[in-house]
Amino acid sequence: MTKTAKFGGSSLSDARQFKKAAAIVRADGDRRFVVVSAPGKRFAGDEKITDLLYRCADLAARREDFAAPFALIRDRYLSIERDLGLEQAHMAPALDEIEAALFSGAASRDFAASRGEYLCARLMAAYLDAPMVDAARLIRFRDDGTLDMEATERQSAFLREMPMAVIPGFYGAMPNGTIRTFSRGGSDITGAIIARAVKANEYENWTDVDGFMMADPRIVPEARVMHAVSYEELRELSYMGASVLHEESIFPVREARIPIHVLNTNRPEAGGTWIVNEGTLMKEHRQGLVAGISGRKGFTMITLTKENLHKQVGFGYGLLKILDRHNISFESMPCGIDNLTVVLNDGDIKGKMDILYHEIRTELKPDTVEIASSIALIATVGRGMAHTLGVAARLFTALSEAGISSRIIDQSPKEMNLIVGVDQRDFEGAIRAIYHAFCD
Ligand code: ASP
Repeated sequence: MTKTAKFGGSSLSDARQFKKAAAIVRADGDRRFVVVSAPGKRFAGDEKITDLLYRCADLAARREDFAAPFALIRDRYLSIERDLGLEQAHMAPALDEIEAALFSGAASRDFAASRGEYLCARLMAAYLDAPMVDAARLIRFRDDGTLDMEATERQSAFLREMPMAVIPGFYGAMPNGTIRTFSRGGSDITGAIIARAVKANEYENWTDVDGFMMADPRIVPEARVMHAVSYEELRELSYMGASVLHEESIFPVREARIPIHVLNTNRPEAGGTWIVNEGTLMKEHRQGLVAGISGRKGFTMITLTKENLHKQVGFGYGLLKILDRHNISFESMPCGIDNLTVVLNDGDIKGKMDILYHEIRTELKPDTVEIASSIALIATVGRGMAHTLGVAARLFTALSEAGISSRIIDQSPKEMNLIVGVDQRDFEGAIRAIYHAFCD
C-alpha cells in the first residue's frame, strides 16, 4: 500500500504544526510521498508565505525596497528551523540566495512564489530524515503553459523505487527549465499528480477542517461532515458554490481511480471525507440519501408565456438564439404547456437586460414576459436520491413548513441533483430546512 500525503499551508505554519504533520507521516509507513505547501497563516490576520513572496517579487520588479516582507519570510523559516533543531536544512544560505535573485532581477514572479514550497520541503525532508525531490525535476509544463502529464509521469517514474520522498507543491518546470507555478492553491494539484505518478492507493489531503461539510457551516452551524462523496456529486456541489479542493486536483487521481481522503492535521482521528468514483462508493460509506447541499445567489428568471407554447416548434430555439447572440449561457430551462422559464446568471446579463427584453418581445412575440430578479438556486445532491420515492415531496414539505415557496424546480434526468430556486431572502432558511429534512 502506498499513500501520497499532501499537507496544506495551515498544517505547516510553524514548528508546532510541522510536528503534527511529521507525526502523522511517521504513524503510517504507507505514507511514502509527502507533498508540502508553503507555511500558511498561524492566526487570523497573519500572512501566508506565498503572499509575502509575491509581494517581494512585485516590489523587486519595480526596483522598490522589499526588505520588510522578506524579513518576515526569513524570520518564519529560521524560527521553524531553530525550533525543530534542523540546522542541516541550511535555511540561512538558501534564503540569502533567493534574496539575491530577487535583488538582481533574476527571479521571475513564479520562481519567487515557488520558493515558499521549496524551502518548506527542505525543512520537512530534514525533519523526516527523508530525501527531498525538487518538483522542477518531476512536473513538466508544455510551452503553452499547460501540464504535460505524459512527460511528468515519465519524469516521476523513478519515485516509485524510493522508499520515501518529500516534494514541494505548487510548481514545476517549463521545457526550457524555468519555474512555473500552478494557480493559487495549486499544491493540491501537485499532490494529485504525484499520487498518480507513484500509483498510490490513496491521496491524502491534510488540511485544517474535518472534511467537507454537508452544508455551509456559516448557514448550518451544526452541519455534519460528509463521510464519503463521489467525484460527480462533488462537481455538482462545487458548481453550486461549495468550496472544495482545487478543481484541477481532482482529474489526475479521478482518471487513475485513486481515492482522495481529506483529513484534519489538527484532529487526525476525525475520520475525514472520502472522495471516490461513483462505482467505488460503497453502501456503507453512505450516510443517507443526500451527500450535501449547496447554493448560490445572484440569478434572474425570465418567464415567457404563450398559449399552446408546447405545440410551437422553434420557440425555445428562438430564445436560445437570442441568448447565444449575447454570449449568455443559461443555468436551467424548465417549461410547461404555456410557459417557458430560463434562469440566468446576473453576472452574465449585466447591462444586457433591456436589449434581451426587447429582442424577446419582438422576435418571439410571447403573450407575457415576466422577469424575477434576486433569485437563489439551491442544489440538493446525492446519488442515493435517484429512484427513491418521495424525495421531492420531503424537500417541498420541508420548504413549505418553513414558509418558503419555491420559484422554480429542476431535476436532472440522472436524479442526482434537485435544484430549487427561491427568493434570495429565503436562501439561508431554505438550506437549513432542506438540511434538517435529509441530514439530521
Ligand atoms: N502556497 C500556494 C498558495 O498559497 C499553493 C498552495 O498552498 O497550495 O496558493
